[in-house]
Amino acid sequence: MEQADNWSAGTTILVVLAHPDDPEFFLGGAIARWTAAGHTVKYGLLTKGERGISPDFPDSQELARIRVGEQTEAAAVLGVHDITFLDHQDGYLVPSLEIRREVTRLIRSAKPDIVVSCDPQNYFIGETYLNHPDHRAAGQLVVDAIFPAVSNPSFFPELIDEGYPATSVSELWLSLPAQANVVLDVSEFWQQRAQALLRHKSQVGDPEKFLAHLKERRLENSDSDDRYVERFRRIVFRK
Ligand SMILES: [Zn+2]
Repeated sequence: MEQADNWSAGTTILVVLAHPDDPEFFLGGAIARWTAAGHTVKYGLLTKGERGISPDFPDSQELARIRVGEQTEAAAVLGVHDITFLDHQDGYLVPSLEIRREVTRLIRSAKPDIVVSCDPQNYFIGETYLNHPDHRAAGQLVVDAIFPAVSNPSFFPELIDEGYPATSVSELWLSLPAQANVVLDVSEFWQQRAQALLRHKSQVGDPEKFLAHLKERRLENSDSDDRYVERFRRIVFRK
């Protein structure tokens, strides 16, 4: 069966999410698979995750600095070396017009073929978690930037003066989907994703406990213990 990500060589993929560690948690396997295939993956993160404080990391400004470093290392494990941090307040992200303009600028600047975010309609993760409001806000910002602002020069016309003309993307992929239409088998990248996640030291705690937890989640999410899949809602825009 032909895979949904059977793109031509050298495709550029821009992943726009709320927090450091979201790319690795939501779609680390897919990102590893895409860079292994020779595509270029870039990240745009809307916050620096400074509210992920804990007794070991009590200072939010210091934590923001640490998390930027951890994210840079984790991305490198997956073959990603281009990250933009927009530095909005962690925990208070809202889909405002001001941030929609920034996301539009980010997408026009990166000129990606594919944009990836997360599903703004997903309030619930399984039966035991609520989705973080920043995740929903990030998804909303990206969806609303893609259509109609990114490709329409009459939206945020000041961006054209800044040197960011309208551009178009061919596909939008949303991770953490309420209703998936793509299931990507990324079993062979499970280890690489786990190694990337372990770079987020301030968030994962004890590495052995964390890996055990990750294996449990893998069993919950996939239909056999040697398989690991990541799910998406994929929109392919008509030319
Ligand atoms: Zn998050």
